[in-house]
Amino acid sequence: MSKPKLSKRIGVIQPSLTIGISAKAKELRSQGVSVTNFAAGEPDFDTPDNIKYAAIKSIVFGNTKYTPAGGMNELRDAVVEKEKKRNGLEYKRENVCISVGAKHSLFNIASVMLDEGDEIIIPSPYWVTYEAIARYVGAKPVIVETEEENGFVPKIEDLERAITENTKMILINNPSNPTGATYTEEDLKAIAELAEKHDLWIISDEIYEEIVFDGYRPVSIAKLSDYAKERTLVVNGVSKTYSMTGWRIGYTCGDKDVIAAMIKLQSQSTTNPTCAAQDAAIEALLGPQDSVEKMRRAFEERRNYIVSELNKIDGITCHNPKGAFYVFPNVSSFYGKKVEGKEIKNSMDFATLLLEIEHVALVPGIAFGADNFVRISFATSLEEIEEGIRRLKNFVAKIS
Ligand SMILES: *Cc1c(COP(=O)(O)O)cnc(C)c1O
Repeated sequence: MSKPKLSKRIGVIQPSLTIGISAKAKELRSQGVSVTNFAAGEPDFDTPDNIKYAAIKSIVFGNTKYTPAGGMNELRDAVVEKEKKRNGLEYKRENVCISVGAKHSLFNIASVMLDEGDEIIIPSPYWVTYEAIARYVGAKPVIVETEEENGFVPKIEDLERAITENTKMILINNPSNPTGATYTEEDLKAIAELAEKHDLWIISDEIYEEIVFDGYRPVSIAKLSDYAKERTLVVNGVSKTYSMTGWRIGYTCGDKDVIAAMIKLQSQSTTNPTCAAQDAAIEALLGPQDSVEKMRRAFEERRNYIVSELNKIDGITCHNPKGAFYVFPNVSSFYGKKVEGKEIKNSMDFATLLLEIEHVALVPGIAFGADNFVRISFATSLEEIEEGIRRLKNFVAKIS
């Protein structure tokens, strides 16, 4: 039998590069090897009990049917309330669409906003899903490089240089995955002004807004001007803040016509996100928030430890992130050198050899368009981080 002839559309995207590393890590584990996992893209905490019970109650009391395609009214209203309280943003129910995770929100935004040939500006290093989604809908991702010295925040003149007559949108991820970059209010104001000057839409991915350190508290770019309020699509969800990655609830806030188009698309594709998960998300957004602060503190303690340990290692430099749960150290000083007779040419080699030799799994920077770096997730226990650092030091000591 010949292979199926797949659509051209699906051929333009690649599966996530991290899959290869995770598969190898799993294989090693199944052989009984203890693998330190620095590759996780989700919090290691369990979902708080009050949220779990809300879902159980929802099922027991019979919320088991289709809900409106854009989400239950109660959840859309909960998002309105939360955005007002947290970010000072005034929305109505018609400005909110609930989707199957924030990734789904982004996919639907791209689907209803971008035509063939439209350009979307994405600061790099970037979450690779942004690029994949843009390509999938036929748009052109325009990558703007940032520098470690500037905390991986793009320079306004670099963003402006990337704008063409085809530019439709600019995407901001604050705090950022994979770099932990955080934007100041001035940074965001400048971007809002740039967007206004060139008549651009803004996507603001705020999924890590509560995982922040050193007193940093992000403002939403949508808050910074009337134009930005009208033209920003705020994307968020419960996955990271409430350790609810598997529940699949994300949302978009913004222009009501864009929201209506997204809901129309959902009505013909996914229909509603899972009903019990929606009830759980209402409890997450409006219920007690003490678990959020508890998790935030644990992340900060781990960040403090890992950044200081990494910077003690000769040949590694590591920017101190003020948000998210990743560090993004530069390991390029090892490129061209050898470990156990094998050459390290790039971030993929570094990741592969580190896994083979010291059994530490992390994600090569190339997965985010930045080959000089690797991404280490500290969404794992302090004990495991200590063990991972020990192994990383052993690995580096073997490089010559
Ligand atoms: C995890 C993540 C998301 C969304 O996750 P969902 O589970 O789909 O809600 C969005 N953006 C970034 C940058 C992320 O890291």
